[in-house]
Amino acid sequence: MLPSIFQQAVPVLKKIERAGFVAYFVGGSVRDHFLSRPINDVDIATSAYPQEIKEIFPRTIDIGIEHGTILVIDEGREYEITTFRTESAYADFRRPDKVEFIRSLEGDLERRDFTMNSMAMDAEGKVYDPFKGLEDIHNRVIRTVGSPDLRFTEDALRMMRGVRFVSQLGFKVEPVTLNALEEHSSLLEHIAVERKTMEFEKITGGKWKREALSLLVRTNLYTELPHLTQHKETLKQVADLPRLEDINKDQAWLLLLYIGDIDTQDFLKDWRLPTKTIRERSKELGILKERRKSGWSKPLLYRAGLEAAVNVEKVHECIESKPDSSIENVKEEYQSLAITSRQQLDVTGEDLMIWANKKGGPWMKELLAEIEWAIITDAIHNDKETIRRWLQTCNRL
Ligand code: ATP
Ligand code: MG
Repeated sequence: MLPSIFQQAVPVLKKIERAGFVAYFVGGSVRDHFLSRPINDVDIATSAYPQEIKEIFPRTIDIGIEHGTILVIDEGREYEITTFRTESAYADFRRPDKVEFIRSLEGDLERRDFTMNSMAMDAEGKVYDPFKGLEDIHNRVIRTVGSPDLRFTEDALRMMRGVRFVSQLGFKVEPVTLNALEEHSSLLEHIAVERKTMEFEKITGGKWKREALSLLVRTNLYTELPHLTQHKETLKQVADLPRLEDINKDQAWLLLLYIGDIDTQDFLKDWRLPTKTIRERSKELGILKERRKSGWSKPLLYRAGLEAAVNVEKVHECIESKPDSSIENVKEEYQSLAITSRQQLDVTGEDLMIWANKKGGPWMKELLAEIEWAIITDAIHNDKETIRRWLQTCNRL
């Protein structure tokens, strides 16, 4: 019995078949099915050309029609349906100069990167596996479809994808593919940073990141990643840390920044991360340094916010190779803060103006900050009357 995510999509395959074409589940979903990993979405490949798909389904969106991909909405669910195709002449080590639509499944499977990603499954659950992907899954190895020299020269991103699967699946790269990784790593320079970043974040978010980071070093792929050329030792140090498994990608950036003593802004900008992410990591790095120097205090927790505090503590634990328990302590301490944001103060600028009988101005902001500090450090309660009396006692009104 197929998992429900495939079952739900069977009517889509059937509709295509009734129109006289063939259609299969392909790619990551078939691989993950045989690995018993959670499946996010199913990809469908078909002998029907994009125009023919649009005639079969009333609701479609052109999302990559020049590459043969149509988004179909069926029974409220979305499916990416891609026409079988071949790719030819990769002059720039990344995109094919020409994609050609074809009618045969075999030709389509042949253009895919690794054997485990080159399997197809029909509506009955029958598997088409011309490159022995199942055997490689069973042996937990990553192997290119055809010559790895050729496949990595065609599209250098495949090398990063290979390392990414090491991190996500814990597979080994088989020796011939590994040799080709070592030989062709410099071709990665032709790949857009954004695409490298996407794969790198999957590497640092994977469970087997230790093996994957070591592989980046061993193959020299790291030298084609932004700023990492001068950080070989940092990568090795990170890979040597115990308890790396459940560090997520955000925490991994923080770990790299801290261990390598890296200038956050320039570094993360060159990885083309969004401004918001750069701001978050910069803030966390500052908090991590303070936490490591003097431990947590209520004001530091307050300044961090829960999410940053958890990221910081997780990274601290990883560096110190401590057990998980301190995360729970940090969460508890955070929950016990009197307030977690300035909006929760029981006074406003307006109250201060009335109490002091003064016009608004910078003095209000300063005074609010003092009140905030007194409340966070538990010097006074967050209660309007208490605050007013405290201000009077301090001669601030
Ligand atoms: P994920 O689970 O992260 O989505 P995936 O293997 O499905 O992994 P996708 O990028 O969604 O990765 O690609 C879908 C399929 O397209 C792959 O399984 C593979 O067959 C093929 N593919 C993707 N990128 C390449 C590439 N650079 N070269 C060759 N085939 C590729
Ligand atoms: Mg996918």
